[in-house]
Amino acid sequence: MTRQIAISLLSIIVVTVAGCMPQPAYTPTPTKTPDPSFIAVGDTSAGESDSVSTPIPTLTGAPTETPSLAPPSDTPSPTETATETPEAGTATIAPPTTDPNLPEAHYWFERPIPTGWTDYLDRTYAYGSTSGNQYRAHNGADFWNPVSTPVVAVGNGTIIYAGTDNQVQYGPTTGFYGNLIVVEMSNISYQGQPVYTLYGHLADIFVAEGEDVTTGQIIGGVGGTGIALGPHLHFEVRVGSSSDYFSSTRNPDLWIRPYWGFGTLAGRVVTTSGAYLREVALTIRGPDAVRYTWTYAGDENIPDTEWGENFTYGDLPEGWYTVTTRSAQRSYSAEVFIGSRETTWLEFVFEE
Ligand SMILES: [Zn+2]
Repeated sequence: MTRQIAISLLSIIVVTVAGCMPQPAYTPTPTKTPDPSFIAVGDTSAGESDSVSTPIPTLTGAPTETPSLAPPSDTPSPTETATETPEAGTATIAPPTTDPNLPEAHYWFERPIPTGWTDYLDRTYAYGSTSGNQYRAHNGADFWNPVSTPVVAVGNGTIIYAGTDNQVQYGPTTGFYGNLIVVEMSNISYQGQPVYTLYGHLADIFVAEGEDVTTGQIIGGVGGTGIALGPHLHFEVRVGSSSDYFSSTRNPDLWIRPYWGFGTLAGRVVTTSGAYLREVALTIRGPDAVRYTWTYAGDENIPDTEWGENFTYGDLPEGWYTVTTRSAQRSYSAEVFIGSRETTWLEFVFEE
């Protein structure tokens, strides 16, 4: 099922598709309220840091069913100030139409942290983010939890590595992920290529190479091994290669299935000639909070082959949102509807 809910004037394109691939049985948890808000911290240059792979912890790690969704209390960033007075470009909404050319969502995975713990993705250091130029562009998603919080397989698969990366390289260097587990996912092929999931910084490993695992099976425990500022799970999706950090990672937001009542915004910010723009700040104003993200910063942040995105924001409560961004010349704004378990596509084309 694919439907297009909105078409813009000028240079903004908005579409929505449902996550309609076959899925295993699932128990809805409609009370889950993910994702505390985050303040953008300004600099949108494309530089990368050689620093560590994880941000300053902002979550307590305690199991959190209802994290605060209050608007940020800190001083608004320059970006937010700029979007208070958009100059042009508000999208208009068209009746739903079917667009058979849109990709299907591939929400093939459950969460790597069980319900009852912090099972939503940290947005302060999202996939492709440098967290405001503090760190290397992120190739995965972080789940902040106390040491030895259960880590579970996101799908069925076979363990192809379980141990330290002191001698084998899975990251940009050895010794990056500490104790890690790599799973080759079973019965999944993405455009003819195998799909892997990686679980890093673990304190505990409960599986061995060659072992088959099933969805939800506890395979390890959260830790802070390798290059980590504190205990959290670093989770990655890799396509094509299990070990090539630089060309195989994909955005977990497009693979982890949203809860009922939550959906995903995905899109890109490009120039009229199609060039992807890095670290462009986006403000996402919703019914409950204002959220911030950036377009991908790193060469190794590979867009999904079908979607071609350079930003996402998952775990958004269903509802209407105003998304704004700006180029050097003007502001762009679009109204989008985030549907339950749907991916809403939004494209900003900056005039050159
Ligand atoms: Zn990480």
